[in-house]
Amino acid sequence: MRYKYNIPIAHFKTRAKALPIIKGDSVQCITFLFYLWALLTKRISMRREYDFLVIGSGAAGLSYALKVAQFGKVALISKASLDETNTSYAQGGIAAVTSKPDNFEKHISDTLIAGDGLCDPAVATMVINNAPAQIEQLINWGTQFDKNEKGSYDLHREGGHSEHRILHHRDNTGFEIQRALVSQIRNHPQIEIFEKHFAVEIITQHHMGRSNEPWMKDIECYGAYVLDETANKMITFLSKITMIATGGIGNIYQTTTNPTIATGDGIAMVFRAKGIIQNMEFVQFHPTSLYNPRENPSFLITEAMRGYGAILRTSKGKEFMHKYDARGCLAPRDIVARAIDNELKNSGDEFVYLDVRHKPAEETRQHFPTIYQKCLSLGIDITTDMIPVVPAAHYLCGGIKVDLNGRSSINRLYAAGECSCTGLHGANRLASNSLLEALVYADVAAKDSTQLIGNIGINDKIPEWNDEGTTHNEEMILITQANKEVETIMSNYVGIVRSNLRLKRALDRLEILYHETESLYQRSTVSKKLCELRNKINVGYLVIKMAQKRRESRGLHYTLDYPEKNQFLSIS
Ligand SMILES: Cc1cc2nc3c(=O)[nH]c(=O)nc-3n(C[C@H](O)[C@H](O)[C@H](O)COP(=O)(O)OP(=O)(O)OC[C@H]3O[C@@H](n4cnc5c(N)ncnc54)[C@H](O)[C@@H]3O)c2cc1C
Repeated sequence: MRYKYNIPIAHFKTRAKALPIIKGDSVQCITFLFYLWALLTKRISMRREYDFLVIGSGAAGLSYALKVAQFGKVALISKASLDETNTSYAQGGIAAVTSKPDNFEKHISDTLIAGDGLCDPAVATMVINNAPAQIEQLINWGTQFDKNEKGSYDLHREGGHSEHRILHHRDNTGFEIQRALVSQIRNHPQIEIFEKHFAVEIITQHHMGRSNEPWMKDIECYGAYVLDETANKMITFLSKITMIATGGIGNIYQTTTNPTIATGDGIAMVFRAKGIIQNMEFVQFHPTSLYNPRENPSFLITEAMRGYGAILRTSKGKEFMHKYDARGCLAPRDIVARAIDNELKNSGDEFVYLDVRHKPAEETRQHFPTIYQKCLSLGIDITTDMIPVVPAAHYLCGGIKVDLNGRSSINRLYAAGECSCTGLHGANRLASNSLLEALVYADVAAKDSTQLIGNIGINDKIPEWNDEGTTHNEEMILITQANKEVETIMSNYVGIVRSNLRLKRALDRLEILYHETESLYQRSTVSKKLCELRNKINVGYLVIKMAQKRRESRGLHYTLDYPEKNQFLSIS
């Protein structure tokens, strides 16, 4: 099912105004004086021009940047340091068919089963067939995957996979991939890096006075308005092609495994620019994050641990997964997360246990050194103690709709990685398919965009950012409090189990926050915190609206009012 939205409540107002066309000497003189004044008071922002603008420095953004850099000048912007990404936190690994008895058909079939009828089989086939080439590329860039004594890859098996096919680097695979990519990026002469630069809006005809609508086929992206946090100044990045690779949305919820950068900025920007967003109701909750209420992001206990033999138990020590699914602890994530949610609601407990005490201690320490050390630092020795775990918002299957070449519905704008919706995951992601998707789509988008670039120019008529009439917002408490409210609303009413009543209540509450925040945004000089809050509200709205439209339970979306799957809705 495809959803197109107009924001029902007042659409965002542009903060960039088109410069008036002025004729006559005296008017020109006044204009000159105005610009002189503006320059002196630092109101006029800077302007930079590139062939490619890449927003995001995770697996998707970095690998895309490396691939397009031989075709033009690249600006790579990241709102934090280059390494602060979801990619860096990935533990389990990356799925790919690398040896027998595995084959592409099995991997495709596992992906389609997990996706619960909403995957696009053409996309699954394309991604999975391309996996070995992307693994090869990662290795050429310096990524190291663990091997066994025989010299072949030490492959893990995770929930939903019918074979051992997860390549990994100990239990910190994402960190290793990020390390290798960042070291390539830092040495690349064609790539200019902008850390602590926050993309506020993508630029379209809207900023030149035209009113865009989602059905319009000719919306174009000309770059982005970006806040340089260190200099506290807006920069207009103009580009021939823009890639959005801004990652996930975990921080719209109270408990998440995602680092704080994951606030759905790219999705919100594209939504406001009237691009097509879809499948936002499918939010994956990781069943097993370490229960430690003081910690944000929540520390993930990888699914590979259940693949390794760990057993979920209640606080009384009883195994419970077989009550819910014949596959027991190896059932797909959504089933496990709902089972835990149900056990917690019935028992009133705050966590369940993951038990790996029956496995050889040395082997456990060797396979999961990061988890072992982390738990030990909290006084839990996982070889002798059970691990307290709780579900946490983890991954978004929906996002910016893209085609098989990574093109969004807005011309000159691509999206890849977690912020995009390719059709690979459908209603539920198969474990370890997301890093793979990010790399494959960065690759197809790079091939497609480098073919287009020769026919595209920079649009030099774009107005500068204009924050006239705004003041520095002293009321941080308003933003902090509104952030907490968004997270509470989403967690309480739009979490693992939903209902019509809960969704309606969530929408009503969010609408109040929306109006308050838009009003604050219009009056205030932009800040990262305020923009993130605004983005979280937009993204929360999308999750709720799409959850309301889906009148069935499927994959990651479960509602008490429509507990069954509707066979007629199995088209994405
Ligand atoms: C704890 C954890 C474990 C995981 N384990 C696995 C696993 O084992 N296997 C697997 O396949 N997947 C795993 N995933 C999911 C996977 O890591 C992510 O889906 C994937 O890394 C996303 O990559 P990305 O490039 O799309 O985004 P990210 O890696 O999240 O990068 C997003 C980038 O966008 C930047 N950004 C965001 N907004 C803005 C803005 N407004 N302006 C400028 N920059 C911005 C951020 O600064 C960051 O650089 C895991 C995720 C988590 C959190």
